Amino acid sequence: MKTILLAEDTEELRELMENALTNEGFKVIAAKNGMEALRLFKAFPEIMAVVTDLEMPMMNGIQLVKEIRDMDTLTPIIMWSGADDPKISGINFLPKSVGSKPVAKILANLFKEAA
Ligand SMILES: [Mg+2]
Repeated sequence: MKTILLAEDTEELRELMENALTNEGFKVIAAKNGMEALRLFKAFPEIMAVVTDLEMPMMNGIQLVKEIRDMDTLTPIIMWSGADDPKISGINFLPKSVGSKPVAKILANLFKEAA
């Protein structure tokens, strides 16, 4: 089963996204902030993609992306945020206003094409 790391500090949004990803057939490892997400990313090499919020305590999404990209340039990262697109190269940005399902669909299509 393909594993996705999800970093989102707002519990209800974390659950919403977790459900959307699970419905697309993914296994989800969820983190409450960027610091926890980074620790989990290092601990679980089976993680195939990352979905992250931007604004989070401890470590925000921009810092998380930077830390991950220092180690790994290939793992797809989707930033799902209520804030403006920070225009970081090498990641996909989706506003939270689109909801959780399009994010899960993008990942499902990505891995369908890669298979
Ligand atoms: Mg947040």
